[in-house]
Amino acid sequence: MSAKLIMGTEIREEILKEIKREVDEIKAKHGVVPGLVTILVGENPASISYVTLKIKTAHQVGFKEIQDSQPVDISEAALLALIDKYNKDDSINGILVQLPLPKHVDEKKVLNAIDPDKDVDGFHPVNVGRLMIGGAEVKFPPCTPAGIQELIVRSGTKTSGAEVVVVGRSNIVGKPIANMMLQKGPGADSTVTIVHTRTKDLAFHCKRADILIVAAGVPGLVKPEWIKPGACVIDVGVNRIGVNEKTGKAILRGDVDFDAAKEIAGSITPVPGGVGPMTITMLMKNTLKSLKFKLGIA
Ligand code: NAP
Repeated sequence: MSAKLIMGTEIREEILKEIKREVDEIKAKHGVVPGLVTILVGENPASISYVTLKIKTAHQVGFKEIQDSQPVDISEAALLALIDKYNKDDSINGILVQLPLPKHVDEKKVLNAIDPDKDVDGFHPVNVGRLMIGGAEVKFPPCTPAGIQELIVRSGTKTSGAEVVVVGRSNIVGKPIANMMLQKGPGADSTVTIVHTRTKDLAFHCKRADILIVAAGVPGLVKPEWIKPGACVIDVGVNRIGVNEKTGKAILRGDVDFDAAKEIAGSITPVPGGVGPMTITMLMKNTLKSLKFKLGIA
């Protein structure tokens, strides 16, 4: 049996349409649109292409979008002053600082200077705390985990009472998605296990998973025999394993042996085209939410 593919590329379009519809309604009723600023320091090519995609998506959903490019030698004080300016700007609902920052700048200090109510990436300690508390406290779930949860829910996967195993315990994927899946309420209510490099028997835990979320960054780490027949497999890994000689583009693989796994799983995300497209989509959703909180309509 071949698993159902959970296509992030398709679910992204569905969500972006929903966002655009809401933006149009808010614009008609309140005369405002969500405002998103991206601060880009220097000219890192990967950062530029990521920021370009964010701008394109923001335009697609009708946001006001500002790209604020700063020279690589900008001082930490100047960067903090810039964030302060956008914190006070009423037309801006989301502030994003593209990482990595140059070495002379304290990344943590800069990210923590963002007003938590405009921290649409969801990495500010205040938002991490809100996520941990759960329920109505949550303002901005971090984008990749939020995208993973949307894929699980929109693919019709039952989460209540499900055994969820998360491979990886990073602050940006593993820990937040584990926390989100164990909260009370729809799309969660799961029994969660987190595994990592010190786990004694990785295969044992993976085999128990009704929903297996893999975010290790190790190509092909999860073997087909570790997958419970019929399980939902979310492969977060993005690993560059070579370059396509014809196109010059990177060849990407996930953390799961996809070809074999899809014969055992009930549903599975491909790499690319699964989790990847969801991150920027959820950034748009968080920015819209930020405006809705401000208008008191969230
Ligand atoms: P990370 O910070 O390197 O964390 C990797 C985690 O996996 C660590 O907790 C590590 O355990 C664990 N791990 C690594 N090798 C393992 C092994 N052999 N057995 C068990 N656990 C192992 O990575 P990340 O930032 O979470 O990203 C993970 C993957 O997701 C990467 O491929 C990244 O490119 C991808 N990613 C994709 C998106 C997206 O699609 N939008 C977004 C973010 C990340 P220890 O803690 O014990 O070291």
